[in-house]
Amino acid sequence: EYGPAPEAHAEVSAWIAARPVIGHFIAGRFVEPTGKTTEVVNPATEAVLTKVALGSEAEVDSAVRAARAAFPKWSALPGHERAKYLYAIARHVQKRERFLSVLETIDNGKTIRESRDIDIPLVARHFYHHAGWAELLDSEFPNHAPVGVCGQIIPWNFPLLMLAWKVAPALAAGNTVVLKPADLTPLTAHAFAGICVEIGLPPGVVNIVQGDGATGAAIAGHPDVDKVAFTGSTEVGRVIRRQIAGSGKKLSLELGGKSPFIVFEDADLDAAVEGVVDAIWFNQGEVCCAGSRILVQEGVSERFFDKLRARMATMRVGDPLDKTMDVGAIVSATQLGRINGLLAQGQAEGATLHRAPGALPAKGAFCAPGFFTGTAPAHTVSQTEIFGPVATTLTFRTPDEAITLANDTRYGLAASVWSENINRAIETAAKVKAGLVWINATNIFDASAPFGGFRESGYGREGGRAGMAEYLTTKWEKVGKARPAP
Ligand code: NAD
Repeated sequence: EYGPAPEAHAEVSAWIAARPVIGHFIAGRFVEPTGKTTEVVNPATEAVLTKVALGSEAEVDSAVRAARAAFPKWSALPGHERAKYLYAIARHVQKRERFLSVLETIDNGKTIRESRDIDIPLVARHFYHHAGWAELLDSEFPNHAPVGVCGQIIPWNFPLLMLAWKVAPALAAGNTVVLKPADLTPLTAHAFAGICVEIGLPPGVVNIVQGDGATGAAIAGHPDVDKVAFTGSTEVGRVIRRQIAGSGKKLSLELGGKSPFIVFEDADLDAAVEGVVDAIWFNQGEVCCAGSRILVQEGVSERFFDKLRARMATMRVGDPLDKTMDVGAIVSATQLGRINGLLAQGQAEGATLHRAPGALPAKGAFCAPGFFTGTAPAHTVSQTEIFGPVATTLTFRTPDEAITLANDTRYGLAASVWSENINRAIETAAKVKAGLVWINATNIFDASAPFGGFRESGYGREGGRAGMAEYLTTKWEKVGKARPAP
């Protein structure tokens, strides 16, 4: 049923068959789902896998109460005690790697190669890394206290990895959480709840409420939530910022991007072409920090576009469970429609669209890799996040012009600079307004790196020391000397 079949597939089928509705995980228990549901679809086959509950305000409230009840004990544990739970989660994720990879792939549409080699290993890495932070908390963050109950809202593009980015630092710092996955991709978060049970995590430390935007709004607006952490679109980020303004809640936002990918004429062009593969065709381009605006120096632009077209023609698009595929399915038919709408608009505004030539599967939300040429900076596709496997391109003459074009965006998440002249690369990196800059590389994620953006890409960081600081608040305690009685 799920394409070429390694062992994990049978286990995944049985796991799904046993769950006609994916419900919530509150106070350490799987709650019998009541109320509204929506279908969970495999975007590569259009098969309905199961349903997911859409959490109500009452369910959000009981999850927040559970998190509040668990907070005093959890936050009072020494960091090295909490670390043991994080290590155990990491080990269990590794043990369940095949199962989780298949589950993620059928839910999201991403290729099994990526979920197996990137998503799930990075999840484990994130928990290991943050177990280390829990151990070091007293020495590295003296005069700090956990924030309290954290409401965490995540998107569908890296479902379990985004959960890890939120849950691992929160728990390491001593917080308890109420997390809401995207309703398009609820499965691996539900499996993660099972891991919490297996390792004996105290009830209420992690609560998962499934649901849609209304559920997310109920979490962000709940008066007993101390911090809101959101990853998703810039539009919803703005709504949440307005919603909680004046509430005193701590907030971190990881939003969209339109990240420049700058190729100087002295770059290793073949390496840069492979960079484009990882920048915009990785994960079907559904990557907030995707190198989606390729800026190429004029003298090499035609040669670079020829090489890119040739490489694009080798990209295989199809069944995400097939280990030889490079590009899987877009997360949903709706999202594919949004991408196709933007591609049509780009062409209507006069740009030329180059696509990978192979035929797409007859069924499923597939989208051929591509890139535009002949785009102008003011074109819609130059400014709007396509969130699909298609980049725009612009050419430049001088390094100054490259920087001006790179910064001509409302976003500022990431940038990638390609040059064999290290001085030029470093000078450019310094002038690009972005939270992350990669030189002769792209899309490098590490648990120790502070991930996050400038401007409308949000604020706050996830990963490393800066990420830990988002889940702590400064607190200075001083014990006075008792006065002698007069
Ligand atoms: P989205 O903003 O629609 O949804 C994200 C999450 O927010 C989902 O769980 C959704 O249910 C929830 N949500 C929707 N409305 C809400 C509301 N009013 N209040 C609270 N929660 C609400 O985005 P999406 O379509 O799921 O994801 C794609 C977008 O996310 C892209 O724009 C992409 O750039 C961005 N993204 C950013 C990062 C990053 O780290 N910067 C990472 C991944 C995705």
